[in-house]
Amino acid sequence: MLISNRVKQLNPYVPGEQPKDRVYIKLNANENPYPPAPSVQKAVMDFVQNHPEKLGLYPDPDSLELHAAIADMLNKCGGVLCRAKCEGGEVKPADEDKIPFTVTPDMIYTGNGSDEVLSFVFYAFFDSSKKFVMPQFTYSFYPVYAGYYNIPMDQVPLKEDWSLDVDEMLARAGKNEGGIIFANPNAPTSLGLTRDEVRQMIKKASPDEIFIVDEAYVDFGGESCIPLLAEFKNLVIVRTFSKSLCGAGQRLGYIVANPELVNIVTTVKNSVNHFPIDAVAQVSGTAACRDVAYYAETSRKVAQTRDEFYNFLREKGFYVLKSQTNFLFARHPAIPGDELYQKIKQQGLLIRHFATKGIEDFVRITIGTPEQMAELKKAFEEVLK
Ligand SMILES: *Cc1c(COP(=O)(O)O)cnc(C)c1O
Repeated sequence: MLISNRVKQLNPYVPGEQPKDRVYIKLNANENPYPPAPSVQKAVMDFVQNHPEKLGLYPDPDSLELHAAIADMLNKCGGVLCRAKCEGGEVKPADEDKIPFTVTPDMIYTGNGSDEVLSFVFYAFFDSSKKFVMPQFTYSFYPVYAGYYNIPMDQVPLKEDWSLDVDEMLARAGKNEGGIIFANPNAPTSLGLTRDEVRQMIKKASPDEIFIVDEAYVDFGGESCIPLLAEFKNLVIVRTFSKSLCGAGQRLGYIVANPELVNIVTTVKNSVNHFPIDAVAQVSGTAACRDVAYYAETSRKVAQTRDEFYNFLREKGFYVLKSQTNFLFARHPAIPGDELYQKIKQQGLLIRHFATKGIEDFVRITIGTPEQMAELKKAFEEVLK
């Protein structure tokens, strides 16, 4: 009776395991296998050594320097790191990724990981009186927030090829009037819609409903929807430092949206936690954004390793989705997903299995370094013998 009814109804997110008992090669949480750029390590060391007094003071509540650095990074890479061109120390977007306007700092809002950002975005734009629409299989934190804020949801099954059923999502959004959210590329399927497909989708959706695209993985080969912000006032793009910016440990996520929407999320933030980004994360995040070339290179390496491992899995008889992310979603005709996960674990590597009905045959494999993937290949060879 000490506990509120609200808490009794909570259904918290279960992250990929982080075991402490044994050292595994960890390919289960879509973390980046590469360390942050040397320039980021140096910036953090300098800050702690030369400005220890700042650890005793509150950080900038508005993270202004960080927001400027994020905007600058997006303008330089076009929002897709793995395709950014690095010429003579300068970074430029690939032609297809060019943003037809300049992203400005007032279009950025940052939070303590994009999980927190998503929580505030849910609170800001979804309502408990209307169902919002999302795919049946997508980032499993969305239903958790729906439960937390008591927002009803309408989950739309994927098509047979595991892609989003765009028409059905629009039909339901039209009926519910509560907004739309999905990850693009989607998780755990790894498949993405093109920017033009999303454009057609938003055009048909109501301009009075919020349209949220979670681009956690877009840097590894998807198409960013940032250029669409010039056309649509109801679009919110959510992004993170955890995957392509090698920064899951520093907890930084952000949105890119028109300033009016940024202000609304900021109001929510200031009603919960004035200082979500600590001083060290502001320093490390800013330094990361200023080293676009390093992260363009690491994102390219991850994408290349992924495509090689995709071929390996196919050769081994797996059904594998054609990934635009830093993970592969695959199933083997002869071994159930949970058994595969267990057997790989016995070999000293962690991959992810979801017990969720409908995708229980699959495993999700995070792309590591070529050396880690060579170990995983050995483990698969052993298990499939
Ligand atoms: C990893 C992930 C996030 C969360 O990232 P954090 O910034 O680490 O909280 C958000 N959305 C999707 C789809 C993800 O896969």
